[in-house]
Amino acid sequence: MRIAAITYEEALASMLLFVRIQDVREVPLPDAAGEILAREVIADRNIPPFPRAAMDGFAVIWTGKETERPYRVVGTVNPGTVWSGDASDADCVRIMTGAMVPAPFDAVIQVENAEVDRGGAVRFNAPASRGKNIAQEGEDVLRGTVLVPPGTFLSTRHIATLSSVGLWEVPVYRRPTVAILATGDELVEPWEGASGPKIRNSNAHFLLAALKHSGFREVRYLGIARDDRETVTAKIREGLASDFLVVSGGVSVGVVDIVPDCLAACGVRKILHKIAVKPGKPIFAGESSDGGIVVGLPGNPMAVMVHFYMFIRPLLLKASGAAEFLPKPIRLPIAEAAVNKSGGKRFAVGRLETIGGETRVVEIPSHGSGDFVSACLADGVFEIPLGTSHLPAGETVRFYPIWGNFLSNEG
Ligand code: AMP
Ligand code: MG
Repeated sequence: MRIAAITYEEALASMLLFVRIQDVREVPLPDAAGEILAREVIADRNIPPFPRAAMDGFAVIWTGKETERPYRVVGTVNPGTVWSGDASDADCVRIMTGAMVPAPFDAVIQVENAEVDRGGAVRFNAPASRGKNIAQEGEDVLRGTVLVPPGTFLSTRHIATLSSVGLWEVPVYRRPTVAILATGDELVEPWEGASGPKIRNSNAHFLLAALKHSGFREVRYLGIARDDRETVTAKIREGLASDFLVVSGGVSVGVVDIVPDCLAACGVRKILHKIAVKPGKPIFAGESSDGGIVVGLPGNPMAVMVHFYMFIRPLLLKASGAAEFLPKPIRLPIAEAAVNKSGGKRFAVGRLETIGGETRVVEIPSHGSGDFVSACLADGVFEIPLGTSHLPAGETVRFYPIWGNFLSNEG
């Protein structure tokens, strides 16, 4: 009897349960972009913290009679200074954008609507209204409000908010440590000569780059292990010192696919082996005796690329305390019909094309799962769901922009 492989979603959900979240460290604010916030950030003051002039002009006491009489200028308020004094409703103070509007003034008439006569009196050619051109204290946010929740992936825009509340030592999660092992008698390193049946190891270097690019810096590269049990087992033992071990190759059903046996010999408990997805069906995932996560990827480079973003990175991000760790799809139409002969979910590589204001996903033709150079043209992957063998052109798909640089994609 053929046992149905579990779905990609089931596999990811079951592995996420085994992920342990790292502890917390502090980084200086300038280093916080790219890290994951570990505690909530709270407004320590109202924002704005005082009634703030939103224009350069004159602060007045609103009466509705601003255009009907001259005003006496009784002072000047620059940003960062405080003005205090008595004022009648025929008095005004000159005020600059960003300055605190002093009591009893309650409106600002912008400088463009004012004329100062020779004697120093001001005439306004536009009336005020109560609160005009004043950002009221607390109108953006009240003191005590949560501005950024824990688990947020901090980006440059958060740095402004963290600065504004005076958070200089930022609590962030530690990232898990990761070890990478490539297996295969056929492999040589990119800096070595390759001829005959040998091929260059691309998976390990892809994984190292992808980890670095995703903010994982404590990464150990274990090199290439030949397909013999002693070598692979010894390397696995070394790799189990890291929080995550990712092994490339050797998890399928060939006679040299010895990785699952070697992992078992090192005390790794199998959680799943084989999921209904293409590329990368024979993926292995397990847990080491001290709670480390082990993922064995089939060596096919396309599978390694897709599984890194769709399977491994979510686990790593969860371990890093991220509140959102699943890949986020965008729903877009496909330009041409797409097929799925896999009997599971298929991740196809695609490029975004924007023509006449409409963005569509264009599948990049590939010669099957061994053809990974076609991914050089891709912006990401899209899903052809399990149970769907044919998707007509124009159908909406879930597109995951794992590689795209979308700062400029208008065609
Ligand atoms: P395996 O899963 O070990 O049977 O490998 C499947 C395919 O991926 C074979 O064609 C391997 O030669 C290729 N492959 C395995 N490891 C790597 C690697 N590190 N870099 C590039 N290709 C690889
Ligand atoms: Mg192999």
